[in-house]
Amino acid sequence: MRIVDLKCALMDGHPIIRIVTDEGISGYAQIEHHKAFIKPHVLSFREALIGADPTDVQRVMLRIRQRGAFKPYGSAVSAIEMAMWDIAGKATGVPVYKLLGGKVRDEVRVYNGSLRFPMTGYGPKDYAEDVRRMMALPEGFTIIKQPISFHSPMKREVPGYYYGKPELGHFHGALDRGPLTERGLSHTVECVAAMKEVLGDRVGLALDCGPGWMLSDAIRFARAVEPYNLLWLEDMLTGDYIPYVDADMYRELTLSTSTPIHTGEQIYLRQNFKELIEKKAVRVIGPDPCDVGGIAELKWIAEYADLHSVLIAPHGTANGLLGLAALVQVCATLPHNFIAFEYPGANAPWWPDIIEGLPSPVVKNGMIAVWDRPGMGFDLIPELARAYLAEEDGTFFD
Ligand SMILES: [Mg+2]
Repeated sequence: MRIVDLKCALMDGHPIIRIVTDEGISGYAQIEHHKAFIKPHVLSFREALIGADPTDVQRVMLRIRQRGAFKPYGSAVSAIEMAMWDIAGKATGVPVYKLLGGKVRDEVRVYNGSLRFPMTGYGPKDYAEDVRRMMALPEGFTIIKQPISFHSPMKREVPGYYYGKPELGHFHGALDRGPLTERGLSHTVECVAAMKEVLGDRVGLALDCGPGWMLSDAIRFARAVEPYNLLWLEDMLTGDYIPYVDADMYRELTLSTSTPIHTGEQIYLRQNFKELIEKKAVRVIGPDPCDVGGIAELKWIAEYADLHSVLIAPHGTANGLLGLAALVQVCATLPHNFIAFEYPGANAPWWPDIIEGLPSPVVKNGMIAVWDRPGMGFDLIPELARAYLAEEDGTFFD
């Protein structure tokens, strides 16, 4: 089997890739819906891929892996990897999880970070109300992740939150950092207490915190919330869109508290997880398959983390339904250090109408049953999907 074309289309602005082969099988993958600017990066790999056998996924990746980088520039390489797994599964008639070594679980747990309601404010009552609404969602999530502090408008909306001035930057994840005031620190703890009051010990709580914290404040906060048994504190020091990792700083934070510390959604490739894992600098890592280099890359990292007693909760908030399928396939195969992956929303109401093969409803009691269709296990319906293609991408399905 040979690759004869690599296409990338914007569907209502969401980047979708298609790898076309000479045997009539195509593989599909999706990039985070707000990354339309990655389309030219995807297409830059076209010449390098044509003629390669997509079922030798690792061999093809050797051609392109060095042309990715930390988020958002790992997504093109990662999506190509996932589309090749889709082809390999369809070509052999088995679900992708079989090709990754087989499943070790029949259903995978997801946590909610993407199905959100508009916040009424950024005080304890607002957070309590917000988790109450999330608990009532029909998906029955057993873990909820909340953005707080530097990862939320709290840094702007709470007067005197920290000794610094947030930039109203265009980009999410602008490098706002600074020491917290005592009021800012206690405000954040009060919001955690209010959420836990609602959640009790029935629904787990994780917090997406930054980056932006000074190490000394991060230690104080992580200790202050120890009584609440949080699942993790995410990206306090680096993470999100920060193009580096500081394992030593994370190690100091991790060793100072019993609250699990988490990072890693922006990291590209296993090599950049090596120090974090070997130094046990965090208790939980959160690679995103569509940023880290793909699903086989993520599995490798998960296995290595398990050898070092580091847990894994993969990121995936904006990966869409094709990203969801890839997460289900790989998470079915992960070792016992797997907690849950971040449930990606559909990103637009029309998405569920143009795809078939996913369970309905997708999530029951906070879990997704692993399906057995070949490849990633979905089919796009071109007749319905065409309506959402950008004008210049009209031949995407031809
Ligand atoms: Mg995050």
